[in-house]
Amino acid sequence: MNIVAEVTAQKVSWSNWAGNQRVEHASGYLPKTELELQQIVRHATANNLRIKAVGSGHSFTAIALAEEILVDLSHYDQVVEIDKIKNTVTVQSGIQLSKLNLELHKNGLAMQNLGDISYQTIAGAISTSTHGTGLKFTGIANQVVGMRIVLADSSAVDCSLEVNAELFHCARVGLGALGLISTVTLQLVSAFNLSVIEEPMRVDDVLANLDHHVESNDHFEFFWVPHTGWALTKRNNRTLDAAKPMSKFSHWYSKTLMENYAFGAVCMLGRARPALIPKLAKALPSSGRNEYCDASYKVFASKRIIKFYEMEYAIPREACEEALNRVRRMVKDSGFFLNFPVEVRFTAPDEIPLSTASNRESAYIAVHIYKGMNYVPYFKEVESIMNSYQGRPHWGKLHFQDANSLAPRYPQWDVFQKVRNLVDPTRTFANRYTETVLGK
Ligand SMILES: Cc1cc2nc3c(=O)[nH]c(=O)nc-3n(C[C@H](O)[C@H](O)[C@H](O)COP(=O)(O)OP(=O)(O)OC[C@H]3O[C@@H](n4cnc5c(N)ncnc54)[C@H](O)[C@@H]3O)c2cc1C
Repeated sequence: MNIVAEVTAQKVSWSNWAGNQRVEHASGYLPKTELELQQIVRHATANNLRIKAVGSGHSFTAIALAEEILVDLSHYDQVVEIDKIKNTVTVQSGIQLSKLNLELHKNGLAMQNLGDISYQTIAGAISTSTHGTGLKFTGIANQVVGMRIVLADSSAVDCSLEVNAELFHCARVGLGALGLISTVTLQLVSAFNLSVIEEPMRVDDVLANLDHHVESNDHFEFFWVPHTGWALTKRNNRTLDAAKPMSKFSHWYSKTLMENYAFGAVCMLGRARPALIPKLAKALPSSGRNEYCDASYKVFASKRIIKFYEMEYAIPREACEEALNRVRRMVKDSGFFLNFPVEVRFTAPDEIPLSTASNRESAYIAVHIYKGMNYVPYFKEVESIMNSYQGRPHWGKLHFQDANSLAPRYPQWDVFQKVRNLVDPTRTFANRYTETVLGK
C-alpha cells in the first residue's frame, strides 16, 4: 500500500539564502494539510528515511539541510485563528513573519518583538532561537504559548504549559530535531508604534554608557564599523504617538540605496581590493541621523539584498563591553580587512533549554563577511574570544562547535536530550548538523 497516496515526492535541489548550503536530489514534499505531514512522517519511518522541514532557508548553518526527505512548508502557511480576547494567533508553521505581521496589523495586533528581517517562517525562526533586541524582551520562541507537532510515530500532539509541558518546554527551540511543527500559537500585544533615532556615535562613548543605553531604551542596538572608532546606533522606543514615517524618498535613500545598493557596491569593491576596505569603511558612519516613527513591524524588519555570511554569539550581558573591546583589538592586530559592521544586541533571559538566552540576560555579538570572501579565519578568532564567556552560537549562524563544547553552556542540556530520546529515538528528524551539535 502506498501510504503517501495524497502527497507525492519530487526530486528537488535546494539551497539556502546565502548559497553556502545546498542539496541535490532530495525527495521533496509540498504538504498542504496536517494529515499530509503525518503521511510523510509515516512514510519516512516505515522506510527508515530522515526528514527535514525547510522554512525560508535563512539559516547559514546546515541546520535545514535535508539529506533524504525535504518538507517544504511554503504551502502550509495560513492563519488558523486569531483570538482577540486572549490576544493570540494560531498559524500553520510555514507562514512567513512578513505575511503574519500584515495579518496581525489588520487586526490591531502585533508580535512583541522581532529580529532584523521578516523573511523567516515562524517555525524556522523559533527553531533556531531567533531574536531581536531589547532588555525587557525575549526571543520569538518565548512568545509561543502552544504548538502542535507531528512526532516520529506520526501522531500529532498538542503541547503548551498545561499539556505535554516538557515537550513544549523543549520544542520551542527544537532545532528541527523533535518533530514536524504543524501549528504555532503566539501571545501577541496590541499593535504599537516605535519612535526611532538612528545616529552615529563614537564606539568608546557607546561602551562607556552601555548600561544606560540598554536600560533606558526599549530596543537598543549598535553596529561597530571595523577600522573606525564609530558605531551606528539605533534607539527604538514604544510610543503612543502617531506614525511619522520617513518620506518615500528618504526611506528609499537610507534603507534601499545606502543600506543595500551603495553598501553592496562598497563590499564588492572591498572584496576585489581588500586593502581599500579601511578607507571605504570611513564613509559608512557619515550616513547621518534619522528620526521617525512607524508601526513596530515596519521598524524592526529591514530589507536585506546584499548577501553575506554571519556568525553570532550570545554571551552574558555583563561581558559585552570587554568582549567587544577584545574583538576590536583582535581586528586591529590581525590585519583582517572587514567590510561589514559588527552588530550588538541585548535580550532578557528565558527558560527554554536550548534558547541562546536560556537562564541568562544576554548580549549578542554578530560578525559578518561579504558573500564569496573567506570567513573562516575571522570567525574562528571571534569564536575563541566568545568561548571565554561560555558563548552560545546562534543555531542558524555559522560556528565551529560540537555537542561536547556546547553541553556545558546550557544548564538544561540534559532535559532537551531526554525529550529528544523520548520523541525521536530513531532520529528521523536528524541530519549531520544536529548530529554534530546535539550528538547522534
Ligand atoms: C539576512 C538575514 C537576517 C537575519 N536576521 C536575524 C535576526 O535579526 N535575529 C536572529 O536571531 N536571526 C536572524 N537571522 C537568522 C534566521 O532568523 C534564522 O536562521 C531562522 O531560523 C531562519 O528561518 P527560516 O524560516 O529561514 O528557517 P530555515 O533556516 O529554513 O530552518 C531553520 C530550522 O527550522 C527547522 N524548521 C523549519 N520549519 C520547521 C517545521 N515546520 N517543523 C520543524 N522544524 C522546522 C528547519 O528544519 C531548521 O532546523 C537572519 C538570517 C538572515 C539570512
